[in-house]
Amino acid sequence: MTKKWTRACKTCSKRFEAPTIFNGTHGQIISPRQTCSATCAAKFTRSSSKRWTAEEDALLMDLAGSAPKFKILKTFNRHALKNGQIPRGWVAIRKRAHILKVSLKIEIDYFVIPELARRLGIGKARATYWTKIGLKFCFKTKTRKYISKEALVEFARKRPDRFSGIKYGNLILAIDDLELCRFIAAKYPKRLDFSLRPARRVVCIESKSNTRRVYDSISAAKRDSNLYLSRRSIERCLKLKIEACGYRFEYLD
Ligand SMILES: [Zn+2]
Repeated sequence: MTKKWTRACKTCSKRFEAPTIFNGTHGQIISPRQTCSATCAAKFTRSSSKRWTAEEDALLMDLAGSAPKFKILKTFNRHALKNGQIPRGWVAIRKRAHILKVSLKIEIDYFVIPELARRLGIGKARATYWTKIGLKFCFKTKTRKYISKEALVEFARKRPDRFSGIKYGNLILAIDDLELCRFIAAKYPKRLDFSLRPARRVVCIESKSNTRRVYDSISAAKRDSNLYLSRRSIERCLKLKIEACGYRFEYLD
């Protein structure tokens, strides 16, 4: 005899056998019904208080646009715990935000890199690079980094030369400080080239014979067909002070 699957009724907690229903794709499947009878089902829907209270609405209106997803969820979880409710899921919060006609996008108080790049009229790669050289982001998700307006102003004060070549009209769209915008636009009308650094001379020392050869730059050493080393391996040798194929490298100056 096969064991029959029973489920506890959500209202009266009596065990009942969920009926099998025919589904076109999967054949016979067990119904997801949660209650034993129609009267229990009516009671169950009435009992689950899923209505949004005015307090919750106010909370959502307050958070929308200024807090990220995890922060909103955390706040609602805490609110639910306090009031003895089941915490609301993200889908429910999103639906309610749609009804209240508020946007959950937090690009009002924060910049994401594509938006920042669009406002300043620069490439995304340039803005991404700023996050590596001192532009602080408040928090990040899997795909995005969120930069606050204060952090951007702070970075602009520290490194105004990085904003070189950006027009005044674009600067005021992102930076709140008008005086700073005017200063940058006046001082750096043309984009500075940061890529041109003077090349450092490199010495190549052969470990066996101890012969030294001087190259003007890493690229020059890379071009030497006798060495047959890639740029990356030479840089690695210089950084970690190790050997590659019997050669050592040192900076001359
Ligand atoms: Zn029941």
